[in-house]
Amino acid sequence: MVKKDYYEILGVSRNSSKEEIKKAYRKLAIKYHPDKNLDNKKKAEEKFKEAAEAYEILSNREKRQSYDKFGHSGVKGNTTGTGMNMEDIFTNFGDIFADAFGEGFSSFGFGKSSINRSIKGSDLRIRVKLSLEEIANGIEKKVKVKRLKIAKGIKFRNCSYCNGTGQITRITNTILGRMQTTSQCNTCSGSGKNIENTPRGANKYGLIKEEELVNIKIPAGLTEGIQLKVSGKGNEAPFGGISGDLIVLIEEIPHTKLKREGINLHYDLYISFPDAILGAYKEVPTINGKARIKIDPGTQSGKTLRLRSKGLPNIEGYGYGSLFIHVNVWTPKKINDEQKKFFEKMRKNENFLPHPGNSEKSFFDRVREMFS
Ligand SMILES: [Zn+2]
Repeated sequence: MVKKDYYEILGVSRNSSKEEIKKAYRKLAIKYHPDKNLDNKKKAEEKFKEAAEAYEILSNREKRQSYDKFGHSGVKGNTTGTGMNMEDIFTNFGDIFADAFGEGFSSFGFGKSSINRSIKGSDLRIRVKLSLEEIANGIEKKVKVKRLKIAKGIKFRNCSYCNGTGQITRITNTILGRMQTTSQCNTCSGSGKNIENTPRGANKYGLIKEEELVNIKIPAGLTEGIQLKVSGKGNEAPFGGISGDLIVLIEEIPHTKLKREGINLHYDLYISFPDAILGAYKEVPTINGKARIKIDPGTQSGKTLRLRSKGLPNIEGYGYGSLFIHVNVWTPKKINDEQKKFFEKMRKNENFLPHPGNSEKSFFDRVREMFS
């Protein structure tokens, strides 16, 4: 059988550059990669080896010169020829395939340089909105998450190029002698496995998007912006590696009545003039219901009442904050003639004249007291 011309095999001209030769070979290698030609594996493998042999000669300056001068006889014995097995080809020219077959894998969290690192699926992120009640009490939430999962019915086989080890050991002759380097197998990206059949709807890594209800345990006392991690509930890894994590970002839905400040809560209470003067019992909202508070006769507007332990739990698990009730006396805008007459009379009355004393703490004193 007459041996085919190397330039012809690669489909390049005799004065093509090193880069052009490399590009041409890569194209053929991808085209005839046995994994891509399952229905005609033997023929593809032949073409694959042929291209590899041509590349072996033409990519080497000395061998190419010799081949240009003397043809096939000029490089005889210089090449393992079509006798090269598949593993040799991947070992020798692995870096050429790295770009072609390694792409996309990095998004799964493993790069070309990582050797024997277990493959991890990517993390997923979701936001969970929580009411103040949920934050105060802690809650278990079921959240719909779209995860990439290994498709049902998928079959794997051991990678034939690395014998399932995920690594290729390459021996190079250098001026310092034989050097052995180990790198990740590029055909299986270090997993040691290849997909034998890809089920319908699955991507090229055998993963398929599926909706799943994930149970998230939310401890009491979280603050907005905190991230929780649910281990293993991110995307599954191709080839059965470790699943990624689900990162849960906590968002707080503002309460309609209570204002949060750390572990403390604040409530603005409006009382009437008569209630301020005569005293009263009032209901105020709390996180989990209501509380009854006493308004003493003669309560000043701006007074702050403190309900201890009616705030939020401390995230570290000890104690609760307080609920502060800020008392505001409501001044009516409209009054009738009779009322007007009454207050006109009271205008000069000693009891209605302001005379703040030591018992009426200033606003700043009250704030100081609040945080003591
Ligand atoms: Zn492999």
